[in-house]
Formats: sequence, C-alpha cells, structure tokens
Amino acid sequence: MPNYILSKSSFVKSVQCLKAFHLYKYHYTSKDPITKDKQAIFNRGNDVGLLAQQLFPGGIDVSPSSIKKFDESVERTKELIAAGQEVIYEAAFIFDDVLVALDILAKKNNKWHAYEVKSSLKISAAYVLDASLQYYVIKNCIPELEDINLVTINGDYVYEGKLNIDALFKFCSVKKDAVANWDFIADRIKQAKATIENPSSPDIKVGEQCFRPYKCDFFGTCWKNVPEQSVFLLSNVTVGKQVELYHSGIKTLNDIIDFEGLPANTQKQVKAVQNNLEIIDKEKIALFLNEVNYPIGFLILNCTRLQYLFSLIQNHINKFHFYFHYTK
Ligand code: SF4
Repeated sequence: MPNYILSKSSFVKSVQCLKAFHLYKYHYTSKDPITKDKQAIFNRGNDVGLLAQQLFPGGIDVSPSSIKKFDESVERTKELIAAGQEVIYEAAFIFDDVLVALDILAKKNNKWHAYEVKSSLKISAAYVLDASLQYYVIKNCIPELEDINLVTINGDYVYEGKLNIDALFKFCSVKKDAVANWDFIADRIKQAKATIENPSSPDIKVGEQCFRPYKCDFFGTCWKNVPEQSVFLLSNVTVGKQVELYHSGIKTLNDIIDFEGLPANTQKQVKAVQNNLEIIDKEKIALFLNEVNYPIGFLILNCTRLQYLFSLIQNHINKFHFYFHYTK
C-alpha cells in the first residue's frame, strides 16, 4: 500500500471538482478512455522533460520502475540528498499524505532550487497551482528549498542547425505565487482528504468546472444523460450561460423559446435546428474566400461538424480542397 493519499494529479482534480476526485479514487475504471490527442500531449511533455534535463547535466534520475512504486523514488531522493547529490531528476517527496514528483531539483550555493518543465510556451494558472503544491510539499520536506521555477519553451528561439538547450527554454520563478497559495493548498488538501472519507461521491451537477482548467476525465459518467442537441452546442454563448440555461430546464436547442439576448448568429443556429433548415450565407462566404490567396494551407480536422461545414463550402466553391482526417 502506498503511504500517500493524494498525488499531484489527484490534488489538481480535487481543486477542479471534488466529484471528479472521488470518482478518480473509487471508480477509476469509469474514467474516459485516453484520446490520441491527450496521449500525444503526455508524450510531448515527457520528451520535453527529458530534453530539459540537459539544462542541469550530471543528475541522477529516480523515476519509479512502475507507477505503483513511487515510495521507492521518495526513499531514493532522501538518500541522494543525504549523500550530497546536487542534481536529481524526478525527485519525489511526501508530506501530509501528498506525493509530488519534480522534474529537476538542483543545488546552488547550498540551497535547493526546484524546476518543473512544461512543454508549453506560456504559463497558465493551472501550472502555477501545480507548482504551488510542489512548493508546499517540498518546502515542508527540505526547508532549504530556496525557489521554484516553471521552465517553458522559448517561442522566440530559432533553431540554427545545432540545438541550443539554454536558448530553447525560459525560466520563471513562481515562488511568490506558491507562498501566497500556501494556506489555500493546505485547506484544499484537508478538503480532499475529508471527501474521500465519505464512500459516496459528492452530488455535483455538470457545470463550468467540467471544462476548466482541463476537460474532465469523467464526462462519460456525468454527461451521459445530457441530450444530443443540448444547449452546450450553442455557439457564441459562454459556458456559464449554457450551464445557466441547462439548469433552468432549457436543456436542448428545441427548448429555446425566448431568443432575446442571444447573438444574431446563435439565433440563426437555433432556428436552423428547430426548423431543420440548412442556412448558408453564400455571399459572405464568397466575400471571405475571395480575399484568400494561394498558397492555401491544408486543414486536418477530426470534428464531424466542421467536416460537414467544409464539405458544403467545397461543394459550392471549387477553389478549395479540404482533406479530412479521422483519428477516432
Ligand atoms: S464531469 Fe463535471 S461534474 Fe462530473 S466529475 Fe467531472 S467536473 Fe465533476
């Protein structure tokens, strides 16, 4: 049995939705299957993480031999720190029943510096939350932790025949945010632990949290009764407004009676569905297309609705050819 209750990913889930966290702990197999896109993002993250290790050469990697053996990584991290190792990859720590692993831990002037690598160009609030949890756990384990940084891809980097690792990455200290989030993290850990003491999942309705900061892994469980032509298909309407309509009983596009307040294009969308109409503004499409000049990029789509739209355009205007790619 592992001697931790929360991992970074389960903690992040708990902040997004306590029901998702409960399902993750007790009904893991109800998780939606991982999509190819998501898997590709994970793989990219792993590749970039490995590349970033070159920023701090000479480290020892303490990745576990299996996902169930993180305790070994924690022990190995302790041993290496005690033995004077100055760079550790995938260092792991447990505090307050929370396990975190960190991409790179490096010692400078007798102080530890933490680096979490993101295969992204920008820092998001979700990344800062991840790093805040890491800071909370690691600082409690090694008080000499001086700083925590997010390492992202430098979008201005230009490859000139030889990879320059130092120029490829950017560093940003998020220690200030992590310190500011300290009490929030402690509270949310308490809340997550209390949630799993209850064998029943919290009764949380579908809402904005299902999409933010990540699309939840339990859509298949919670959204199975949401009708096909639901108000969540409304274009130009915020998710907040869609949720409000849905919970007020206006569940499908056919339930919409009052069009006031809906943007003009959304009204067209609803009328098209309600009256089973195809509405194509050929004039506007032609105006737009006349402004597009060769070379024209190819579109690769795996969204059936968009594919339908583009086949309509293709049927009417010969200038374009679209290639459709199904990944399902
Ligand atoms: S789908 Fe929505 S309500 Fe259900 S667990 Fe996920 S975030 Fe929570």
